[in-house]
Amino acid sequence: MKLAMIGFGQAGGKIVDRFLAHDDRHGSDIVRAAVAVNTARADLLGLEHVPDENCVLIGQSRVKGHGVGADNELGARVAEEDVDEIQGAIDGIPTHEIDAFLIVAGMGGGTGSGGAPVLAKHLKRIYTEPVYGLGVLPGEEEGGIYTLNAARSFQTFVREVDNLLVFDNDAWRKTGESVEAGYREINEEIVTRFGILFGAGEIGAGDEVGESVVDSSEIINTLSGGGVSTVGYASEPLSDEESGGGLLSRFTGGNDSEIDSAHTTNRITSLVRKAALGRLTLPCEVEGTERALLVMAGPPRHLNRKGIERGRKWIEQQTGSMEVRGGDYPVSGAREVSAVLLLSGINDVPRIRELQRVAIEAQENIDEIRAQSDRNLEQLVRDESDELDPLF
Ligand code: GDP
Repeated sequence: MKLAMIGFGQAGGKIVDRFLAHDDRHGSDIVRAAVAVNTARADLLGLEHVPDENCVLIGQSRVKGHGVGADNELGARVAEEDVDEIQGAIDGIPTHEIDAFLIVAGMGGGTGSGGAPVLAKHLKRIYTEPVYGLGVLPGEEEGGIYTLNAARSFQTFVREVDNLLVFDNDAWRKTGESVEAGYREINEEIVTRFGILFGAGEIGAGDEVGESVVDSSEIINTLSGGGVSTVGYASEPLSDEESGGGLLSRFTGGNDSEIDSAHTTNRITSLVRKAALGRLTLPCEVEGTERALLVMAGPPRHLNRKGIERGRKWIEQQTGSMEVRGGDYPVSGAREVSAVLLLSGINDVPRIRELQRVAIEAQENIDEIRAQSDRNLEQLVRDESDELDPLF
């Protein structure tokens, strides 16, 4: 699947940058075009792979390249005012060659949190291609304002995009790690999962053909209908013998194909379970998911229709959905077999309920603090005012 990716804000830009590096490494060619938008000049300068001409600095008249802090209302306003500058970079994208837009942003800050929904709305008005969001939720330890920003941005972003794929930093943070190192690992996790998912529809001419290859329309159909999505992943390394292509069969006299096939099928079904029941990008109850797509990636001889079909049926049972698609993504030379599971239209997400609850609390606190501070100021000025004439 070919995407135009737009990284909004610092997290968004860094993740898109990692997607470009992933494309380079794997030759997957998912990112047809990449744009990074920010109000902070320094963040744009830190990107290594996004071309300079596609780095757009907005809000210069208001914040002079210094960023909007964690003020997402200002982030939204600046994006609205400078949307033509962003469009200028997007104009350079050959949109007839892309299957969809993907806007990537951290939801807890200011620029991406405020700007990403504004850009989604703008792109949807102009283009017929689907506009997806990849929204990153903040860690709980980041504090109330980040939670409040995320809750408000989430509400708007999910309304403006065709589907909001979510990654929850909070579910992935590790203790005892610096924030930067933590993000580096998390960003690799994001890129691996979404790289396989979106790479699935991109089989090149010289690639080996699988049994039932996933194509971009299946990804698009799974995402259509909107709502929120999460992604599961599990992978198993292949032994040297397995990835070496037939060494084992030489030792066993070439009679291992049936054993192999049973083994291959079992491995696939167990990977599918691990992907669904292990850590999702946004933890949720799998039951009640509206649509799902299973992608099995690896060397074609380690993927088989029977395993994928079994895995697909199992997901149908777990989700209760009648719309579960499945297929393979043959990657010759891969040294592992991986399962990626896209659950789209998830409904039972405790983290989102909690986010909204904490955000409402934070909002009430902020309102109360503001009211109190107004009262304090009034009191302060009143106390002194008897002895002073006001300036005007
Ligand atoms: P912005 O530049 O104003 O949009 O704000 P940032 O992108 O710096 O931060 C917004 C949120 O994104 C933060 O609250 C973090 O939760 C998250 N974040 C920041 N950097 C990264 C990153 O490199 N990776 C991930 N996964 N999350 C990040």
